[in-house]
Amino acid sequence: MSDHKAIIIDGKLIAQTIRSEITAEVRRFIQTYGKVPGLAVVVVGQGKNSQSYVDMKRKACDEVGIRSIVLNFPEEVPEAELISKVHELNADPDVHGVMLQLPLPKHISEGKILSEISLDKDVDGFHPSHIGKLAMKGIDPLFVPCTPKVCLELLSRSGISVRGKKAVVVGRSNIVGLPVSLLLLKEDATVTVVHSRTEDPESIIREADIIIAAAGQATMIKGSWIKPGAAVIDVGRNCVDDPSRKSGYRLVGDVDFHEACKVAGCITPVPGGVGPVTFALLMKNTLDGAKRLIEL
Ligand code: NAP
Repeated sequence: MSDHKAIIIDGKLIAQTIRSEITAEVRRFIQTYGKVPGLAVVVVGQGKNSQSYVDMKRKACDEVGIRSIVLNFPEEVPEAELISKVHELNADPDVHGVMLQLPLPKHISEGKILSEISLDKDVDGFHPSHIGKLAMKGIDPLFVPCTPKVCLELLSRSGISVRGKKAVVVGRSNIVGLPVSLLLLKEDATVTVVHSRTEDPESIIREADIIIAAAGQATMIKGSWIKPGAAVIDVGRNCVDDPSRKSGYRLVGDVDFHEACKVAGCITPVPGGVGPVTFALLMKNTLDGAKRLIEL
């Protein structure tokens, strides 16, 4: 039996490093411009998940010295009222980033509201114009969505070069799979995207030097699907029942971590891999946006 053990990419530690870099930059920003960068988060309804993500964003802002403004709306808020709030935030000189806590209730079109956010303040990078620019050679968007950016950041901070490598992205959503595949392509990887209709995903994934797992399917990727030495970034966050926990559940990734550790060269754990870095890069996007707006 192999005693190989993959290097664990410590997202918490990397997030801490990024946060201290940003805290110093925020301090310099405040000294230079006499203004505090501000991030507005628009929340609709009382979803438990949404609230905990909002709390984490607020905490991330506090830690680096960014001002957070959380605007709560009832579940039944009319779409027009949200649009008018977004316009107000677009025009507010003390707000440098605007984001919507997704998902929104069914009567509101996510696409419509997202495209109302000013391009200069769309720190989530979900505006069609930003995603479109990601797909174009020689053009960079003002903002790159945070979770996809984290995947590249974790690879680079772990000393893994992407250029010329075979990368397989599992998932093609607008917020993770698609943008991460475009980012990898921009960094000169050879990219294959696997999705729910892909035939024989296992043999495609087994070819990969770099695997980005973003399917939202608990422990779908087994150790035998992984090429020895591959780098594995597990974006998945799936709740599975666990009666031994007080909460009754635990979080697992899309990769069978235990099996993968025996084969992969390096791997991110869940939790503690991609998640913490996502919040740190949201702070970075907000600060970069604030600098750009103030220097206009
Ligand atoms: P999503 O919108 O549900 O998209 C899932 C994607 O995976 C789809 O493209 C789907 O294919 C594909 N897929 C589903 N089942 C598959 C299978 N059996 N084989 C291959 N592909 C399959 O999910 P998402 O928003 O991209 O999120 C993906 C995961 O990342 C989730 O677990 C989510 O919780 C997690 N996430 C984590 C963070 C973070 O840590 N910061 C942030 C965002 C998301 P089709 O397109 O064919 O349906």
